[in-house]
Amino acid sequence: MVILFGKKKETVPAIYTVETCTACGDKVRRVFEEGDYVFLSKGESLCKNCGSSSTMMVSAIYGEYPPEKNAAPST
Ligand SMILES: [Zn+2]
Repeated sequence: MVILFGKKKETVPAIYTVETCTACGDKVRRVFEEGDYVFLSKGESLCKNCGSSSTMMVSAIYGEYPPEKNAAPST
């Protein structure tokens, strides 16, 4: 399930996946890949923090809009 925070429809949000290491709790954000879902555990994932393998679990998936270029406060 992907939760998007509405803004402009013409702006395509970047989808990110957050993986949490179940061994040390380290969180890693990466670009969403097809097939990702919350609580998914990929066997090939390696924790960069503690080095444990098969401990990375998807904890969140969210869409993030890029910063608006037109919203600059300078005149
Ligand atoms: Zn870890």
